[in-house]
Amino acid sequence: MIPGSFSYHRPSSVAEAVALLTKLGDDGRALAGGHSLIPMMKLRLAEPANLVDLAGIADLKGIRSDGNDIVIGAMTTQHDLIGSDLLGTKIPLLRETSLQIADPQVRYVGTLGGNVANGDPGNDMPAVMLCLGATYHVTGKGGERRIAAREFYQGAYFTALEAGDVLTAVRIPVPAAGHGAAYEKLKRKIGDYATAAAAVVLTMSGGKVATCSIALTNVAETPLWAEEAAKILVGSTLDAATVKKAVAAAEAITAPASDARGPAHYRTKMAGVMLTRALSRAKSKARG
Ligand SMILES: Cc1cc2nc3c(=O)[nH]c(=O)nc-3n(C[C@H](O)[C@H](O)[C@H](O)COP(=O)(O)OP(=O)(O)OC[C@H]3O[C@@H](n4cnc5c(N)ncnc54)[C@H](O)[C@@H]3O)c2cc1C
Repeated sequence: MIPGSFSYHRPSSVAEAVALLTKLGDDGRALAGGHSLIPMMKLRLAEPANLVDLAGIADLKGIRSDGNDIVIGAMTTQHDLIGSDLLGTKIPLLRETSLQIADPQVRYVGTLGGNVANGDPGNDMPAVMLCLGATYHVTGKGGERRIAAREFYQGAYFTALEAGDVLTAVRIPVPAAGHGAAYEKLKRKIGDYATAAAAVVLTMSGGKVATCSIALTNVAETPLWAEEAAKILVGSTLDAATVKKAVAAAEAITAPASDARGPAHYRTKMAGVMLTRALSRAKSKARG
C-alpha cells in the first residue's frame, strides 16, 4: 500500500506542464486530485517516476459561461460543481451526478478533468459528457485542440490523450430551456462505483419527446452513447411499449465484464432498469 518513489513537479502554467510532460514522456504523469491515480500507485498498478501536479495552475480552475456553452476548468472539483449556482440553473444534471460520486471527502479534491481524463469505465462523468455532447479542450506540444467527448474514449484507460497532453477544460452546450435530465446509478453501497448507470437529457413538445440523448456508465470498456435507443424515443410519449424497445436497443450495445458487481447479464439488465428510471425522471422534470 506504499507507492514507489517518484519526483514531484509543480508547474505554474499549462505551457510549463505540457513542456514537462512532453520531456518526461512515459516517465511522467499528470496529477490532479489524485483520487484515482494515487490508489493505483499504492497498488503498484501505476508507477510513474515523475508526477506533474496541476494544482498550482490557476488557469485550470473555474466555471464560466461562453455564449451558449459552459466552460469548466479541468481542476474544478466535484465539490465545486455541486456548489455552482450557474450549473444549478443551466445544467443541473452535473450537480445530480456529482452527488452520486464517492463521498464528500473524495469530491472535495477529485476533479472534473481527472474524472473524464482517467478513462476508467467506472467513472460517472464520462457518460454524462457523452450525453450532454461535451467537448474537451486539450493542450499538447502542437498547441490546443478540441476533442468531442463522444470520440475521446477508446478502451479501458485508453483515451485520445497523447503523451504530453493536458486536458485544460470541458465545454458543455447548455441544454434547451425546459429540458429534463436525470442520472440513475445502481451501486452496492454509498461511495461505490456503478454496477450500471444511465444518463438522460430530453426535451418534450406537446407531450412528445422532441430530442433525446442517452449514455451508459460501466457496462463496457468505455462509456456508451446510446444513439439508436434515443432515436426510438423521439416522437413518442414515452409510452411503455416504446420505452421497452429503446431499453432493448440500449442493452444491445452493452458488453460489461462479470465481476464483483455481478455477472455480465445482470449488469446489462440493470443498465436497462437505470435507463427506464432515468427516462421517467427526466420526463417528469421537462416542460412542454
Ligand atoms: C473511495 C473512492 C470512491 C470513488 N468513487 C467514484 C465513483 O463512484 N464515481 C466516480 O466517477 N469516481 C469515483 N472515484 C474517483 C474520483 O472521482 C477521482 O477523483 C476521479 O476519478 C479522478 O479525478 P482526480 O482529480 O482525482 O484525478 P487523478 O487521480 O489525479 O488523475 C486520474 C488520471 O487522469 C490523469 N489526469 C488528471 N487530470 C488530467 C488533466 N487535466 N489532463 C490530463 N490528464 C489528467 C492523471 O494523469 C491520471 O492518469 C472514487 C475514488 C475513491 C478514492
